[in-house]
Amino acid sequence: MPAKLLEGKSVALKIKENIKLEIESLKNKYGAGPKLVSVQVGENPASEIYIKSQEKTARDLGITYELKKIDAGITQDEFIEIIDSLNKDKSTHGIIVQMPLPQHIDAKLISRYISSLKDIEAVHPENMGEIVFGKAKILPCTAAACMELLNSIDSLELYGKEAVVVGHSEIVGKPLALLLLNKFVTTTVCHIATGQRGTLPEFVKKAEILIVAVGKAGLVKGDWIKEGAIVIDVGINRVEGKIVGDVEFDKAFEKASYITPVPGGVGPLTVTILMRNVVEAFKQQQTK
Ligand code: NAD
Repeated sequence: MPAKLLEGKSVALKIKENIKLEIESLKNKYGAGPKLVSVQVGENPASEIYIKSQEKTARDLGITYELKKIDAGITQDEFIEIIDSLNKDKSTHGIIVQMPLPQHIDAKLISRYISSLKDIEAVHPENMGEIVFGKAKILPCTAAACMELLNSIDSLELYGKEAVVVGHSEIVGKPLALLLLNKFVTTTVCHIATGQRGTLPEFVKKAEILIVAVGKAGLVKGDWIKEGAIVIDVGINRVEGKIVGDVEFDKAFEKASYITPVPGGVGPLTVTILMRNVVEAFKQQQTK
């Protein structure tokens, strides 16, 4: 039987409704709502799309959005000073640094300088560490979006399920594996070395839940999918002017029980989770 589509938009809508209500009540209580500052160094056509979508979503929800554009020639030390001034600015509740940064600025180093209280992408080691302990309130957006899609399946009991995550990046695969483990999902993580060893199909074939975040169109073949599996495709690839995921959609659709479309699956949820993180950051800052 063909799969049901796991669409991010409808899940995002419900979360957005809750965010709106929460912001209204926070504004009533504190006299002002959350503010998100987005920092962009230099020009990058790829990040323009994300910035526009962040700005629109923030405004729709009642979050103040400020884009700080910085010249690409800025030194790393000067950039750290800007981050530090945003950390100290009481009217800024969330900071997002748009990627990629110019090569002379070390993105990993910068993530350590963003105040963990304002780190709405959960890139600060302290926030990453909270995920290990299962205590994180601010979650990495894409990983959290995948969990929300799983949670949206009414009949799904995660406890004891077998999941395979393909991709082990710091923003998606690794935190996602921890979020699944925190729900007692038996989790296997595959990565480039699994691909090189040629054992990726073996792992994928066993997955009751398959989440793929690699960035290679058609990497996961449709006939590898276990009958009835839940498939979440995080990948975004441009092929002949079209956006496609990492999984061969048409064939996987015939075998899976649920599958995300690309585009329209994980993507629409990610920015919503970012806004939920801004609200959470705002609340945490009111009590400090
Ligand atoms: P990344 O480049 O940081 O990591 C890629 C991962 O894939 C690595 O862990 C690598 O080991 C693994 N990999 C590479 N080749 C492989 C192979 N042949 N077999 C198995 N594993 C292999 O990428 P990322 O930042 O995690 O993003 C992954 C994809 O997800 C990209 O297409 C990106 O555009 C997309 N993405 C989408 C969203 C969204 O909101 N939908 C958000 C973030 C990333």
